[in-house]
Amino acid sequence: MVESVLIDTVRYRVEQTKETILVDGHACHGDVDYNQTRIRLSCDGAMLGEGRKVQTLMHEIVHALLYERGRQEHENEELVDALASGFVNLIRENPGLMELIRK
Ligand SMILES: [Zn+2]
Repeated sequence: MVESVLIDTVRYRVEQTKETILVDGHACHGDVDYNQTRIRLSCDGAMLGEGRKVQTLMHEIVHALLYERGRQEHENEELVDALASGFVNLIRENPGLMELIRK
């Protein structure tokens, strides 16, 4: 797992926790704290495998990315989820594209 991610100019540290992560009273796979610039990932029993963790990490990254760019949509879970899944697939399936962007 990565220790941190740079989102535009803001570095968010990535922590794994055995604590149950509650968002609005519901147990979640992860959360993001914009003020503390911290993403937490749950590593309890429900969190199966790296694939799930990657998906959750990207979800929290998209929240933070929209927030840091001042977009109200950062609270739109459906949009965040769609973008997160899309980005994971895009990055996974297009190494040539990633190389082009990094040049
Ligand atoms: Zn979310």
